[in-house]
Amino acid sequence: MFRLPTKLAALYLLAALGLNAAFTLTVYAAAVPGGVYVWQAPADAEDVTFDGDPVLRLGDTVFVGLPISMQPGAAQLEYRLHNHTQTHGFEVVAKTYTEQHLTITNQDMVDPPPETLKRIRSELARQRSLYNSFTPTVDLSSGFSLPLEGTTTSLFGHRRFFNGQPRSPHSGLDIAADAGTPILAAGDGTVTLSDDLYFNGKTLFIDHGQGLVTMYCHMSELLVAEGDVVEQGQEIGLVGSTGRSTGPHLHWSVSLNGNRVDPTTFMQLLNAETSSSRDLSGGE
Ligand SMILES: [Zn+2]
Repeated sequence: MFRLPTKLAALYLLAALGLNAAFTLTVYAAAVPGGVYVWQAPADAEDVTFDGDPVLRLGDTVFVGLPISMQPGAAQLEYRLHNHTQTHGFEVVAKTYTEQHLTITNQDMVDPPPETLKRIRSELARQRSLYNSFTPTVDLSSGFSLPLEGTTTSLFGHRRFFNGQPRSPHSGLDIAADAGTPILAAGDGTVTLSDDLYFNGKTLFIDHGQGLVTMYCHMSELLVAEGDVVEQGQEIGLVGSTGRSTGPHLHWSVSLNGNRVDPTTFMQLLNAETSSSRDLSGGE
């Protein structure tokens, strides 16, 4: 009978425990560039901002999206308490993201032809303004669900090289699945963009309120239109490979207060918060 030597088994156990400890730290403590800082605001605090932008608040829990380009070190939130401006300081620690090298066969997607630059710039401006919008709260009490079950092929934050040329860090999570697989809304919200974009291909934006926006890219088909109100789990599109893509997959981004953050981290934090509020409210 095959049996692991005891010492090796112990190492596996330690590795499992170590991984678990690191996971807990990532979720609950570390504020890193590209991550989310969670803060319990004083009950009477109003108008919490980071870098001048209002932030997502559920009850007294505040979720702050930290730009991946920010320098580690001291950071702060501002808020009003009984009509006085207050600050809350916190520490952002460094995180090293790994490199990813990709080969794109369509060279126009690496060095776009000059006549497309105007289109690309206007699409970027349109997306930026949608990320920066701050709309009324929607019900996030059931948290977020993953828009697609599949194989994770690229993590948030990878420092990317296309055909050897450095590009901006990967701003979302890539999940590969068969072309035509349905993609589901991560949470309730309103569709604010449903269009075919140069780099992102067939793309949807869902605004979940209070500066929380999700983006779904490279679809083969868009199943909802701008202005549609969608529910968590609703089919919104089908997996494809449109735009700058090396095969059928979903690129999923989560943006908080105008900053793209790690979707996995955000989802874990949001769901930890919403499930504990559900427990407190009598365990329905
Ligand atoms: Zn991607």
